[in-house]
Amino acid sequence: MITGQGILKIGGVPMKVSFTSPEGPCGAEALLPDVQRFGDQITNHAVRQVEGQGLKVSCAKGCGACCRQMVPISPTEARHLARLVEQMSTSRAAEVRARFEGARARMAGASLSASGHPDTEKAAYREYGLAYFRQGVACPFLEAESCSIHKDRPLVCREYLVTSPPEGCSVLGSGQVRQVPVALRVWAAFGRSASPSRTLEWMPLINALDYAKRYPKSREDLSGPKRIEALLREIQTLPPSKV
Ligand code: SF4
Repeated sequence: MITGQGILKIGGVPMKVSFTSPEGPCGAEALLPDVQRFGDQITNHAVRQVEGQGLKVSCAKGCGACCRQMVPISPTEARHLARLVEQMSTSRAAEVRARFEGARARMAGASLSASGHPDTEKAAYREYGLAYFRQGVACPFLEAESCSIHKDRPLVCREYLVTSPPEGCSVLGSGQVRQVPVALRVWAAFGRSASPSRTLEWMPLINALDYAKRYPKSREDLSGPKRIEALLREIQTLPPSKV
C-alpha cells in the first residue's frame, strides 16, 4: 500500500487530504473509503459555512424525506453496495433484496427504466429524476425513516443536506428546498475518474444489485497511484457544483 498526502484547494479553501491505495493494479473500490472521507470533509466544510451564516442543517436521524429521490451511483459504488448486502445475515439480506426487487418492479410498472438515463447534463436527466420521485419509492436501505447503512451510504447521499424544513424535501417541486451548497460533487469526480473514457457512468441505486450481478468484476487496469492521479484530474476539471 502507498499513501499520498497533500493540500487541495477546494472552492478557495485549503484542505488536507490523504489517499491510500495499493501500489499495483487495482479497481476503483480500493480508493472508496478515502473518497468517502474526502466527501465528508467537503460536506462538513459546507455545513460550517452555512452555520456561520446563522443557518441550521435540518437533516436528522428519522427524517428520510430525501430517500425517495433518485440516488445516482457509479458502478464502483454499485459493487460496494452489493457486497454490503452479501455480508448481511441471510434473513436481512433477503429483506433488503426484496425491497430492491419491489423498487425495480415499481419503476417497470411506471415504464421507467431501472437503469436510469445515460446523460447527467441534460433536461432528460432531470425529467427522469422527477418521474422517479413521483413514484414515491423508498430507498431499499431506508428503515424506520433512517439510513440503515449510514457509515457506507453512497457519496451523493453524503453531499445532500438542507437547511429548509424537512417537508420541503418530500413534496415534488415544492420550491422550498434550501440545499447546503457543496464546493464539489465528489461522487461525479470519482465516477468519472474510474471510467477509461472519463464519462460519468451511473445508475439509480435501485439497480445496484442487478448491475453487480451482471458485472461483478471491476477493471483493474490502473495502479493505485494512477487512480489517485485520475481522481485529482477530475477534481481539477469539474466545474464548481451548482446546487
Ligand atoms: S442510502 Fe441511505 S441516505 Fe442514501 S437514499 Fe438510501 S437510505 Fe437514504
